[in-house]
Amino acid sequence: MSFDLVLFGGTGDLAWRKLMPALFQAFRHGTLPADGRIIGVARDDLSDSQYRALIRTRFDEVELAKRPSPEEFDRFAALLHFLRMDLSQPQDYERLAAQLRERNADTVVMYLATAPSLFTVACEQLAAAGLNTANTRLVLEKPLGHDLASNRAINETVRSVLAEKQIFRIDHYLGKPSVQNLFALRFGNALFEPLWRRETIANIQITIAEDLGVEKRGAFYDSTGALRDMVQNHALQLLCAVAMEPPINSHADDIRDEKLKVLRSLRPWTAQALGQDVIRGQYMSGRMEGEIVSGYRDEPGVNPESTTETFVALRTEIANWRWAGVPFYIRTGKRLAGRDARIVVNFRPVPHAIFHSPAGAANQLAIHLQPKDGLELHLLAQAQDQRHSKAAAQSLTPVHLDLDFDKRFGSERVGAYERLLLDVIDGRLNLFVRSDEQEEAWRWVEPIMEFWRNEPSGPRPYAAGTWGPSAASAMIARDGHCWSEEC
Ligand code: NAP
Repeated sequence: MSFDLVLFGGTGDLAWRKLMPALFQAFRHGTLPADGRIIGVARDDLSDSQYRALIRTRFDEVELAKRPSPEEFDRFAALLHFLRMDLSQPQDYERLAAQLRERNADTVVMYLATAPSLFTVACEQLAAAGLNTANTRLVLEKPLGHDLASNRAINETVRSVLAEKQIFRIDHYLGKPSVQNLFALRFGNALFEPLWRRETIANIQITIAEDLGVEKRGAFYDSTGALRDMVQNHALQLLCAVAMEPPINSHADDIRDEKLKVLRSLRPWTAQALGQDVIRGQYMSGRMEGEIVSGYRDEPGVNPESTTETFVALRTEIANWRWAGVPFYIRTGKRLAGRDARIVVNFRPVPHAIFHSPAGAANQLAIHLQPKDGLELHLLAQAQDQRHSKAAAQSLTPVHLDLDFDKRFGSERVGAYERLLLDVIDGRLNLFVRSDEQEEAWRWVEPIMEFWRNEPSGPRPYAAGTWGPSAASAMIARDGHCWSEEC
């Protein structure tokens, strides 16, 4: 099978840091179809060889194990080409069309790794140049809009030129091996399904914590914030993966139908819930690994009076038979105490205790997404006390079964972007987001955005290197629970 992958934004941060390394890994693993061309597009005036040289230098920043040898790079570089093009200029699309027609590949992937403000014009002009044929696949990066109306406007334009099955909306969290293993754990094993419900589960926590600040993306982040950047997409997709009903089969639309039902079942916001169940924060200067780091408002590109949130913690419920009454907590932020993405399923304690257990001890399933990648099942076991006393015989102590996917399957496993890029080339939509899911997610976060707009107090400060404002702990404590690292 032959393919052309047109990488709009081929000189941008995403292309360098994620897409090129992922394409190279697929090439190295022999999974990238051999008859392929990758065409980087941007406004710079570069020849193919200059573009290849530029990419070669960027690979120096990639972790050692994933860096190509000079011979490997030369073979990979034969796939790389460059086209100077301004996406806002209709005449430039003709040159792209000519290049693509010349080869007439079986599959043409258009990857929009550019600012979302260019998505609409790019789709319209691709269609005007006749590039929306049946073998075209379009990849859209997040954020797709900044609210429901702008998201709908982009989706309407895209759908007016391509069928839904040709549109691949990326949420790279869905490509993470742990998320695929969550599906496998839930729908490939009989063990957990009988327990996966309100009668046995006390609460579910989704944490996506970053230790980094906004780095070089201050201006972008300041107009976006944690709610739009992380909650509307990644966190809600994780919530769908953990809470959805078993789909009738593994077809993309059957999976996406079930995710959509979860989003539609999220408890609608009331004024009271907005006031007490959503906490926003902004990081101040603090100490991380012994170094003092800047506060958010002092970061380059950030408005010194910014009220943009760099932290969100919220509590919600899913109004259906499986989950009614079970709190789902979502928490995400920058400059937190560690880089840690995990889903924690806390089971209820036994209904009648005959052993002594540490206060609050109960079973827990932790699904680690990053930096560690694996599953941990926390159990209570008989304490092994040499003294063989009666008290020891009646005491339980927490132990855990640890399935470390890196150790079990090797660190050469397929990364998220590698997996997703190969899926696009293959036309597999399972791990991509449908427009109605996205719209439902925007519909649910919009009341929070509206509430914040009218709330003068702004985000709560928290020191860099902590787990966010103390109000996030107070929120969860109201239910008698605690964040997993605090318990
Ligand atoms: P970036 O570093 O600013 O790169 C933008 C790219 O688009 C550059 O190659 C730029 O090249 C090109 N470009 C800009 N205007 C253009 C035009 N009119 N015509 C043709 N090319 C144009 O941005 P990025 O960080 O890579 O982000 C790209 C997209 O991915 C954004 O939607 C972002 O939100 C999303 N995203 C990024 C990341 C990330 O980690 N970076 C993560 C998730 C999602 P020239 O200026 O030379 O033309």
